[in-house]
Amino acid sequence: MATLEIKDLHVSVATDDGAKEILKGVDLTVRAGETHAIMGPNGSGKSTLSYAVAGHPKYEVTSGSVTLDGDDVLAMSVDERARAGLFLAMQYPVEVPGVSMSNFLRTAATAVRGEAPKLRTWVKEVKAAMTELEIDPAFAERSVNEGFSGGEKKRHEILQLALLSPKIAILDETDSGLDVDALRVVSDGVNRFKASGETGVLLITHYTRILRHITPDFVHVFAGGRIVESGGSELANVLESEGYVKYTGSQEAAG
Ligand code: ADP
Ligand code: MG
Ligand code: MG
Repeated sequence: MATLEIKDLHVSVATDDGAKEILKGVDLTVRAGETHAIMGPNGSGKSTLSYAVAGHPKYEVTSGSVTLDGDDVLAMSVDERARAGLFLAMQYPVEVPGVSMSNFLRTAATAVRGEAPKLRTWVKEVKAAMTELEIDPAFAERSVNEGFSGGEKKRHEILQLALLSPKIAILDETDSGLDVDALRVVSDGVNRFKASGETGVLLITHYTRILRHITPDFVHVFAGGRIVESGGSELANVLESEGYVKYTGSQEAAG
């Protein structure tokens, strides 16, 4: 069973005024079969955590470690991380003009599986996953994220999740910009993915509303670049009614 282990992670970001420390000692273990939610105010460093684990070049790990089943994730290239079974959906997925969704997904699956899926079975797999996620078949021919609405980008992320079957998925603000219907489809997709029990999910979010559809086993409050409190799913309800004021000293709603 897969285990992602983050230990005392410190991360700096390069700014015009030099390096600025954003993550100040993050400790977190996500095991297959578990769903963890990280919740916190804007600017607390939640996305920095996902970028650092993804290997974004702008984010420098200055100390600490990230391992997947004991293997050093930080020593891996971005491709190697995907092949090792890590999936990172970004808050602002990149546009890849001129590359169709179906080609993009097949390339990603090839990278993860180590060999190209057979074209005929692949087309069937993609169709089945798209039907489940209520995605228009024409979507497969469009360029990646080009002109996608917020909801379409999120469905695309969940489509990747369904097709790549990673060991650990990190989903950053998967709920932002979704209307009620899209939120339901995306949540159903994540729940289906979770149901296998073989994968771990780290759901990063500012708002509690997605947690009405996806029940986490653990909720962690993120503030000032570290986890300041951990609890069960009931902690999300406390945050919904009380916001983050207790952690930041300023009013910010979480619901
Ligand atoms: P969150 O996702 O919790 O809203 P972020 O990780 O996006 O927080 O940002 C945390 C802090 O780091 C913020 O103060 C933000 O301005 C800063 N930061 C993040 N990325 C960059 C960057 N690429 N350049 C400069 N500052 C950044
Ligand atoms: Mg420390
Ligand atoms: Mg963010």
